[in-house]
Amino acid sequence: QQTATPVLECRDVERRFGGLVALTGVNLRIERGEIFGLVGPNGSGKTTMTNAITGFFPPQVGSIWLNGREITGMPPHKIAALGVARTFQNLALFNGMSVLDNIMLGRHIHMKPGVVKTALYWWLSRNEEVAHRRKVEEIIDFMQLQSVRDELVDSIPIGLKKRVELARALVAEPIFLVLDEPMAGMNQEEKEYMARFILDARDERGVTVLLIEHHMDVITGICDRMMVLSYGETIGTGIPSEVIKDERVIQAYLGG
Ligand code: ADP
Repeated sequence: QQTATPVLECRDVERRFGGLVALTGVNLRIERGEIFGLVGPNGSGKTTMTNAITGFFPPQVGSIWLNGREITGMPPHKIAALGVARTFQNLALFNGMSVLDNIMLGRHIHMKPGVVKTALYWWLSRNEEVAHRRKVEEIIDFMQLQSVRDELVDSIPIGLKKRVELARALVAEPIFLVLDEPMAGMNQEEKEYMARFILDARDERGVTVLLIEHHMDVITGICDRMMVLSYGETIGTGIPSEVIKDERVIQAYLGG
């Protein structure tokens, strides 16, 4: 497996904000089809890692590779167009719009504005529109959001909002999906549902997943491998059942 090209590889990544070293010397390799967990106490650098991978705050040192292609320093929209989708820790949904329209927005990276808008290509654009709609409906079914598809997104509970975010990421048909605390604020039942959808997204849609979490239990439940960050450095990597026994990891959690 080590010889196959990983979906994501980070080599010796460092990110500073002024004098603060938010990440340093981070190496990460995520294989195709893995659900990979990234955990650490608050302020350990998890979101900074997400922002480095998705292009929002590129690393100042080191490199990031997607399917063997270097993406270091590319703008976020280019990285998205190469097949990286993300959800945000704080929901980034558009209130005042329906569930359906919020999910439809996730298709924009596949839409060609010139073709969609030009009257000359009306027939082509109508066919495109039908294809986009079909994909959106397929994901609404997959995420079991049929019953709320026409509701305003503001009016549905947090568990469903998080599901809408995941649906919006999936309609982009990503190869690599970064989920930033997808279960934050959820009750136990909602967490179990979300875990199931993440596993199904991998198993049925072939998506490779990086799951950012503050809570260890979520990670150990569904991740194949994980990495633990503390003060911007890696303190453990491997299979969850082994990593959680690591002395440094226990210290970081008990001490933090
Ligand atoms: P986590 O997601 O694990 O809670 P973060 O990646 O948000 O941790 O933060 C790691 C460190 O980097 C913190 O000290 C935080 O204050 C700092 N940091 C993160 N983003 C920025 C930013 N945009 N500007 C300044 N400092 C930042």
